[in-house]
Amino acid sequence: MNASLVQTLRLQLGAAQVLTEGDLSAWELDWRRRWRGRALAVVRPGSTAEVAAVVQACAAAGVAVVPQGGNTGLVGGGVPDASGSQVLLSLQRMNRVRAIDTANLTMTVDAGCVLQAVQQAAAEHGLLFPLSLAAEGSCTIGGNLATNAGGTQVLRWGNARELCLGLEVVTAQGDVWDGLSGLRKDNTGYDLRDLFIGSEGTLGIITAATLKLAPQPAASTTALAACSSLDDCVALLSLARARLGAGLTGFEVMGRFALQLVARHFPTLPRPLPDAPWTVLLEQSDTESEAAARTRFEALLGDALEAGTVDDAVVAESIAQAKALWHLRESIPLAQAEEGLNIKHDISLPVSAIPAFCAHTDALLERHFPGVRLVNFGHLGDGNLHYNVQAPAGADGAKFLVTHEHAVNTLVFDALQPHGGSFSAEHGIGELKRGELAARKSPVALRLMHSIKSALDPQGLMNPGRVL
Ligand code: FAD
Ligand code: ZN
Repeated sequence: MNASLVQTLRLQLGAAQVLTEGDLSAWELDWRRRWRGRALAVVRPGSTAEVAAVVQACAAAGVAVVPQGGNTGLVGGGVPDASGSQVLLSLQRMNRVRAIDTANLTMTVDAGCVLQAVQQAAAEHGLLFPLSLAAEGSCTIGGNLATNAGGTQVLRWGNARELCLGLEVVTAQGDVWDGLSGLRKDNTGYDLRDLFIGSEGTLGIITAATLKLAPQPAASTTALAACSSLDDCVALLSLARARLGAGLTGFEVMGRFALQLVARHFPTLPRPLPDAPWTVLLEQSDTESEAAARTRFEALLGDALEAGTVDDAVVAESIAQAKALWHLRESIPLAQAEEGLNIKHDISLPVSAIPAFCAHTDALLERHFPGVRLVNFGHLGDGNLHYNVQAPAGADGAKFLVTHEHAVNTLVFDALQPHGGSFSAEHGIGELKRGELAARKSPVALRLMHSIKSALDPQGLMNPGRVL
């Protein structure tokens, strides 16, 4: 039956777009190199009609479909399992910008458009598509929406969900739902769009999206501030919000050890401030000019220095310097990877609860895993930390991961509960956190999720074994 399915797919798409042999690791191995699967075939449709035809053929044959965009997901949700029986459907060839409406501030794009290309297409019209993350050169809009990606601009613009007005989706039955609306107000029944956003390919395949745009700011600049405690970082956030309002577009925090790793593995990167317990990266966008933004930063940080909230600060003097500060922040995951395998956490909490959570959980980890090193950094403005746990100095990272991952996760996730936190802020559930979802969501929430899954995908063929 499967050989005849492959034959059908070849007739539908042309043999060149149905891959079954050779090195398929670009699609079968995930970005973290943690999950390697084997696909019955990698198929690369070039249009919505072709996606629908593939899904119909797979549904008729009872074969599962795993959608994939840029394969940069971090939870093992976008690669096939090891059975060799699933079809990997890559959206990469669907990369057209379909339309830009400058008056309505919207743009409609194919799901396989790379995020950076979408940002550039908007910029060519003097407009901004604000979603921004370190994988933007490879990840796709379809993947961003399927995972409801966050990134560095959430504080001002929200997650991918908040930047999407409409979707086109191929359902599990192979029907095409055209929900490509550019309306900002439309209360006509259940919100189907929001069901598919964040569903990680388990309810249907996103083939296009209508996205929200904004005018490009006249200027944007960054500053770096050294704080001696997380309480001070939170106080600085409140002050920056009060002073800069919607002009505050980024507020990232970097723990001492995270920046020490950057210094160790990328020694040529400039470090404008000396070592501090916490370093904050602030970004401001301005409708006036860079000089105006800089003046506002100087006033804000001057007052924070006087109040003792900040111990030291520097404001970028040029676009190149502003970029260099971001580069420092974005180098942390790479520096951490150079240091060895680690246990990653992508958690969120009310901002107000972060200092107490970290004080409590840091101490617990040290008690149970002496010498463990915390690479704590992230989007403090969104209450989202990458609270990563690295093996003690000199220990074997891979061995530490295998031996302790479960216990470390349990300790960290249990500690989130009394503070009202979440064990997955932006990366999603995928394969990695399925057990946590089952264990930590309420029975009512799980029952509702299973009802939605079985209503939309009764055969269970859309990315099975992920999320639920
Ligand atoms: P893939 O990895 O291909 O797929 C991800 C999931 O979505 C899978 O479950 C897949 O089945 C599903 N999917 C993909 N396309 C579709 C589609 N068209 N229809 C239905 N389902 C689909 N995430 C953040 O939120 N914030 C960050 O700051 C961030 N930084 C990152 C930095 C790096 C260096 C890397 C490697 C990843 C980062 N991520 C971040 C993870 C993030 O989830 C992905 O980068 C991105 O959103 C996924 O897009 P993708 O096209 O690569 O999707
Ligand atoms: Zn992040």
